Amino acid sequence: MGFELDRFKGTVDPDFKCNLCNKVLEDPLTTPCGHVFCSGCVLPWVVQQSSCPVKCQRISAKELNHVLPLKNLILKLEIKCDNHARGCDAVVKLQHLPEHTEMCDYTPAKCRNKGCTEVLSLGDMDAHMRETCDCRPVGLCESGCGLMLTLREQRLKSHCCLRTLKAHNSALQCKIISLDREFKQQTIKANKREKALLAQLSEVHSELQMTALKYQKKFTEYSERIDSLTKTVAFSCKEGETKSATVVLLREGGSLGFNIIGGRPCADDNDSTSNEGIFVSKIIEEGPADKEEGLQIHDRIIEVCVSYGGS
Ligand SMILES: [Zn+2]
Ligand SMILES: [Zn+2]
Ligand SMILES: [Zn+2]
Ligand SMILES: [Zn+2]
Ligand SMILES: [Zn+2]
Repeated sequence: MGFELDRFKGTVDPDFKCNLCNKVLEDPLTTPCGHVFCSGCVLPWVVQQSSCPVKCQRISAKELNHVLPLKNLILKLEIKCDNHARGCDAVVKLQHLPEHTEMCDYTPAKCRNKGCTEVLSLGDMDAHMRETCDCRPVGLCESGCGLMLTLREQRLKSHCCLRTLKAHNSALQCKIISLDREFKQQTIKANKREKALLAQLSEVHSELQMTALKYQKKFTEYSERIDSLTKTVAFSCKEGETKSATVVLLREGGSLGFNIIGGRPCADDNDSTSNEGIFVSKIIEEGPADKEEGLQIHDRIIEVCVSYGGS
């Protein structure tokens, strides 16, 4: 259904009118034959009759299309508020009508004081509830029940402690029942969550164990490899100790370029007595012994051969 014509200023362009409700188009849809109607007017018609409402041809609901440019033009029209009859003077663009209606002070609402049936504008609600409502609270009953006394009860002297207590009691019962229901629902939810968390926890736990086992295995593997490598290195060191080499040095200006010492290769190597002998103690830099295949400090000298010859 479209918008009432009298809510718009001046005369409305006939192109903006729906051919079914004769009001300003609301969410216009067009038929394949080019007729335009409100979607709320044409859809039920086409579903029932399978024809254009102007009776020009047979159509199905799938053939109806939105007419965006027309819709946008209509949204720019200025319209009076829904609550115009209730006193709202606001005139807004149709596209802003929903926002205005939401905060319009003239929107009707029911009084929230218990027992009051009055319907009034939202903007007047506070004042009504506090100042004029017959059912507004005026104090607590002093004749026994201690519950809230309304203006009407006070005026008519109609307050009955027993009746008020009964009503109050049943209201409390209702509240207890609804709270109890909510509590049960929450408990069920919490239980479900606990179960889910426990399942998650055990999953993580077993994953952790698997990982630990995997690393334990890897660790053992690497330990074994390190052990075997250590053995290999130690073996090759031992081999090196007993290796002997012949080094030929050419005397240069009377020196062979190294010093010797008797005893052990290192002063702190006390525990091996079998290693006694003559060892190299110093290599003179740039001397005949200071070359790549030459002597090293701590090399043991087993034999010295002196050869004469050449120049
Ligand atoms: Zn219509
Ligand atoms: Zn048609
Ligand atoms: Zn308004
Ligand atoms: Zn009221
Ligand atoms: Zn009372």
